[in-house]
Amino acid sequence: MGLIFVFIKPENNLKNNLIKLSLLRKNFYFILNGLYPWSHPLTNKIKLRLLKPINIKYIQISLTYDCQCSCAHCGMSKYNTSQEKLKPRYIYKIINNIVPNGFGQIDFFGGEPLLDENIYQYVKYSSARGIFTHINTNGLKLKEDNVRRLAKSGLRAISISFDSPNPEIHNKNRGINESFQRALIGAQLCIKNGIKTIMSIYSSPNDIVNGQTEELINIAKEYKFDSVRLLGTFKVGNLSSVDDPKYPDKAIKILKKIIKDNPMVKPHGIWKCFVPYRTVAYISPYGDVQPCSMVPFKFGNIGIESFSSILKRMYKHPLYDISEPGCIMNSGMVKKAFYDNADCRKQNLPIPIEQLVFSQEKD
Ligand code: SF4
Repeated sequence: MGLIFVFIKPENNLKNNLIKLSLLRKNFYFILNGLYPWSHPLTNKIKLRLLKPINIKYIQISLTYDCQCSCAHCGMSKYNTSQEKLKPRYIYKIINNIVPNGFGQIDFFGGEPLLDENIYQYVKYSSARGIFTHINTNGLKLKEDNVRRLAKSGLRAISISFDSPNPEIHNKNRGINESFQRALIGAQLCIKNGIKTIMSIYSSPNDIVNGQTEELINIAKEYKFDSVRLLGTFKVGNLSSVDDPKYPDKAIKILKKIIKDNPMVKPHGIWKCFVPYRTVAYISPYGDVQPCSMVPFKFGNIGIESFSSILKRMYKHPLYDISEPGCIMNSGMVKKAFYDNADCRKQNLPIPIEQLVFSQEKD
């Protein structure tokens, strides 16, 4: 999950997909990219600068649902994984389509994206096009040589997930010995190699109230992470059965104070969701297009239809009109259409959007 979730929050007046490149920037970018399509540090940097206004808009590409861990809060645990994965040529095609579709950032997602050995080439290919590249990882594969390869390929940012300030609890939750220590060492290597390094944490109301969230933030500060992405409870994956994902007042009060005292902390999904801003789209390892990695509804498949035509259709759906605060998966509209619909819930994920009936009324 982003920079995913990106670093900058879209403002309200940008809600209708108005984040666009100026004509001047666009022309300059496409001319430069046409003349110098290969990777070169200086041209990569100029292209990145030209695309800066749309860095806020990101495509999440999941390379695999395979992962070494089995985390309690995993949002990907209920996906059907029996289909054939996208071939690398499709991933390069998607990368080529990112900027023409108005996006400036790629989040490589999983499962664990570093299990795909092609990731170094994908990062390099994207960086050569000036695209801001970001990886979400459990940190287990961040060894000296891999991190150096990622930095050399042009990786700009990495989010490493941590479950608890207590290494034993983290390791137990992951089902892997030493996974906390390995992730922390990996983070140090990323910081040393100049990659923007984000600690990604899931904070339940309990974690906030019992001080666990603050302890993790203190570790992030001590080890000089650039920021902390604080994910709220999203009613998906292993957390689908959470009855009321809303945060009680006590947790909200403490959370507000934490954020005020620690500007490096960026909350995600508690007050705001990027989906209604149309700044995110997700492509699964099988080519299914979804609003975001956590929204298990598919609008088409890039093996059958072009990404742009799926995107156009998807962005017109009533799902994008949800105005309740926080993750749209916690909204009343999704509850009625998906969670209260036993037939849909029995199916493999993601569900074709046509099978869900969304009421237009706002809850
Ligand atoms: S639906 Fe919104 S809040 Fe939930 S994970 Fe996706 S972008 Fe984040």
